[in-house]
Amino acid sequence: MKQFKSVIDFQKHFDTDEKCRQHLEQSRWGNTPTCPYCKSTNVNRFPNGKKFSCRGCRKNFSVTVGTIYENSKIPLNKWYLGTYILTNHSKGISSLQLASWLGITQKSAWFLNHRIREMLKETQPELLSNEVEADETLWGGKAANKHKAKWELDKQKPLEGKTPILGMVERGGKVVTKVVDNISKEGIKDFIHHNVVKGSTLHTDELKAYKRLAKDYVHKTVNHSEGEYVKDGSHTNTIEGFWSLLKRQIHGIHHSVSPQHLQRYSDESAYRYNLRKVPQDQRFEDAIKRCEGRLKYDQLTKK
Ligand SMILES: [Zn+2]
Repeated sequence: MKQFKSVIDFQKHFDTDEKCRQHLEQSRWGNTPTCPYCKSTNVNRFPNGKKFSCRGCRKNFSVTVGTIYENSKIPLNKWYLGTYILTNHSKGISSLQLASWLGITQKSAWFLNHRIREMLKETQPELLSNEVEADETLWGGKAANKHKAKWELDKQKPLEGKTPILGMVERGGKVVTKVVDNISKEGIKDFIHHNVVKGSTLHTDELKAYKRLAKDYVHKTVNHSEGEYVKDGSHTNTIEGFWSLLKRQIHGIHHSVSPQHLQRYSDESAYRYNLRKVPQDQRFEDAIKRCEGRLKYDQLTKK
C-alpha cells in the first residue's frame, strides 16, 4: 500500500480519473474484474480500457457500477481527494471548504460529502464486549441537558425539538450510535441487545430503561443526578467523551445539521474514532472498500 506523506503527495499520486479507476478496480476486484449484475468473471475489457462487456448476462459495465460513484459527473480523482480529507481530517470538512478545494459547486460538494459519510457507515458492526458504556445524548436546542433525570421515556416528541442519539462504546474499542425519534425502553433494550455480547459488563447512568438489562449483562450504574460520576470503577466517561467529540466536530465545521442527516454525521465521527489506531493511508483504503451501494440525491433531500 502506498504511503502518503501529505495531501499534496496524495493529490500527485491520484491526479487523474484514470489512475483512480485503476486503483478502484484493484480495490474492488483484485485482478479479477467481476460483472456487478450477475457476478460473472467471464468478462471482456473494451479497447478504451474503461468498460467491460459480460459474457454471462451480456451487459456492459465499468468499475463504478453499483458504487457511490455510479453516474457521477465528478471525476474520481475529486471523489478520492474528498474521501482522503473526510477520513483523515480530525473534524471532517464543510461543503463550502470542500467545494473550493475541489473546484466544484457547493451543492456538488454537499452531496459528495454526504455520500462519503454514507459509505463510512458501519453496515455490520462487530459486537461490543467486555466493559461497555451506554448513554444517550440530545442534539439541538439550547439547554445543556447534562442531567437526564427529567427525561420522559416512551413519549413521542418529549424533548422539544431535540433529537436523541443512543450510543455505546467498548472501553479501548469501538463506538456505535443510533439517532432515534424518542428515547424508549424498548428502543434502548433492542439497541443494546443488537450490539453487545451477553454477559458483558454494562456501565450506564441511572435511567430506568437500562435496569431491565440486568438479567443479560453485569449492570453497573452511576447516579449522575446525585452528582456521582465514578462509583467502584463504574463510569460513562468514555461515551461522554465521544459525545463531546461529536458535538465539537459538528459545531466546529457545520453551522446547522438537520435531524434527518444527523446519523450520517455521527457515522462520520464514529468512523474516525473507530479507526483511530490505524494509519491514515489505511483509513483511506478501508473507506474506498466500502464504496458499494448508492445514495441518490433525491434520497438525500427527501423530507
Ligand atoms: Zn453479467
